[in-house]
Amino acid sequence: MAELIIDHLSVAVQDKTILNDVNLTIKNGEIHALMGPNGTGKSTLSETIMGNPRYRITGGRILLNDQNITDMATDERARAGIFLAMQYPVEVAGITNADFIHSAMNARNNHDAVPVLKFLKSLHQNMAFLDMDEDYANRGLNEDFSGGEKKRNEILQLMMLQPTMAVLDEIDSGLDIDALKVVARGINKMRSESFSCLMVTHYQRLLNYVVPDVVHVMMGGRIIKTGGPELAVALEKNGYEGLDQV
Ligand code: ADP
Ligand code: MG
Ligand code: MG
Repeated sequence: MAELIIDHLSVAVQDKTILNDVNLTIKNGEIHALMGPNGTGKSTLSETIMGNPRYRITGGRILLNDQNITDMATDERARAGIFLAMQYPVEVAGITNADFIHSAMNARNNHDAVPVLKFLKSLHQNMAFLDMDEDYANRGLNEDFSGGEKKRNEILQLMMLQPTMAVLDEIDSGLDIDALKVVARGINKMRSESFSCLMVTHYQRLLNYVVPDVVHVMMGGRIIKTGGPELAVALEKNGYEGLDQV
């Protein structure tokens, strides 16, 4: 179960205000899309929800299931059920993809180890579901993965970690149509009463495959419009400049 409330949130990076009085509520089981032009603050909001300390909260608060998590550390947020698929997933040589995911699951599980055989079974099932070659389990985390493979790997982590609140920052960027469908299949598989999601995207294309309950448009660090899936269709057609006609 997860309800996320972003309440009058303002955020600065170094001394520059990036987010300005952002309000957003994602209820239990809902998938929201966050759209907006480049440089408008979408990744800033995503990273702030996960608790990246580079993003300084200058006003407002973040609540998860009525608990104020504004000052909570990133690892505690992960244990509370929040997951972030970063816009640019990091490459780590020297730790295998499988070991990384297993450690993350153990950490999320309050360091109660998930039994290896159970882990491997689930890993291989999910990799097959995402049409991922078995090799990817034993390669370095994201090491020499293509852009699309990294995104697919983020969805593998999502499916393994089973968070209750996921933020997916441009999970569709750099994907060809087949990979996009695979990524969408993973997100749709997660969909349930106990899973909430914020999908950050530039394009309506993803939203044809994962239909959001609510669409928000961010510009200049504020949410300037909220609507249903039709809002994304209108944006695709008229661009952000044409928002007034929506
Ligand atoms: P979006 O994801 O919508 O493209 P971002 O949140 O990445 O936008 O960026 C919003 C603004 O904040 C941009 O002007 C960007 O240059 C600035 N910004 C974001 N992260 C940082 C950072 N770590 N250091 C300095 N400036 C940043
Ligand atoms: Mg950007
Ligand atoms: Mg971004």
